[in-house]
Amino acid sequence: MRAMLLEKPGQLLKLVQRPDPQPGPGQVQVTISACGVCRTDLHVVDGDLTEPRLPIIPGHEIVGTVSALGAGVDAFAVGDRVGIPWLGHTCGCCSYCESGAENLCDEPGFTGYQIDGGFADKTVADARFCFPLPGEQRDTEVAPWLCAGLIGYRSLVMAGANSRRLGIYGFGAAAHIVAQIARFQQREVYAFTSPGDTTAQAFALDMGAVWAGDSDQSAPCELDAAIIFAPVGKLIPAALRAVRKGGIVVCGGIHMSEIPGFPYTILWGERVLRSVANLTRQDALDFLALAPTIPVQTTIEEFPLEQANEALQALRSGNLTGAAVLRP
Ligand SMILES: [Zn+2]
Ligand SMILES: [Zn+2]
Repeated sequence: MRAMLLEKPGQLLKLVQRPDPQPGPGQVQVTISACGVCRTDLHVVDGDLTEPRLPIIPGHEIVGTVSALGAGVDAFAVGDRVGIPWLGHTCGCCSYCESGAENLCDEPGFTGYQIDGGFADKTVADARFCFPLPGEQRDTEVAPWLCAGLIGYRSLVMAGANSRRLGIYGFGAAAHIVAQIARFQQREVYAFTSPGDTTAQAFALDMGAVWAGDSDQSAPCELDAAIIFAPVGKLIPAALRAVRKGGIVVCGGIHMSEIPGFPYTILWGERVLRSVANLTRQDALDFLALAPTIPVQTTIEEFPLEQANEALQALRSGNLTGAAVLRP
């Protein structure tokens, strides 16, 4: 197999050839047809996340076809199209796993972080954490569903079913999927981008936002909730100022720059500030059932696998509309 390998954070990924990984008991071998590039991959490569298993093959928005089955796997057959997400392993017995919060498992394993991921042409994965992907959408278009879609969906659920006026800070891969679901649910999306990023603002309006503007502007009306996808800590006080009493601010990213101090008055009034961490398999089942009925359309920019470094740089510099997807 060919893979783009991270040997050390802060370095470029290196193209390597390895023997094909063989599925152990309970695993499937997947021949990869597309893998999305997520901001979390960037945080792994740049060293913002400090617990990678090294060397590691990044990538956790994997779409491919089952090409071999390990012992005991009966949920899939060779030839099935499957998706592999960020949550790659849980212990199954900690208090979180036992209470339906496996996203918070004490001993988790994450794809592309501790478990080799999808910046490759083959991988193996625990079959219990893979999802069937029926439907007509192309592999490259479905890939961003596996994280941007799932985490975006979980963030939207956390923003509250009755939050009609929804702010979204940072309009990339996750936001453009969430905006489509929000519109489907008859919510109003207010999109906040980096100041002056008129390309992202136009993209947000295209995706159904009723308003788009700079993140240092105030919202045109009081919001019921806001989701922050941009990894920028100063957006937390901005979002708290934008939501009404009882409003909810959800941080959808895994890493953020430092949050500046802010007066208690902007949290007062029973405003809620929370993060969203990882996903549960139930989130995936819920989202993957909903997305094709809308249907969620993803805007992607394709890169050959060998150009993973260029794809990461495009994401780092904000020069992407929608999601970057690697094709082996
Ligand atoms: Zn656990
Ligand atoms: Zn991700």
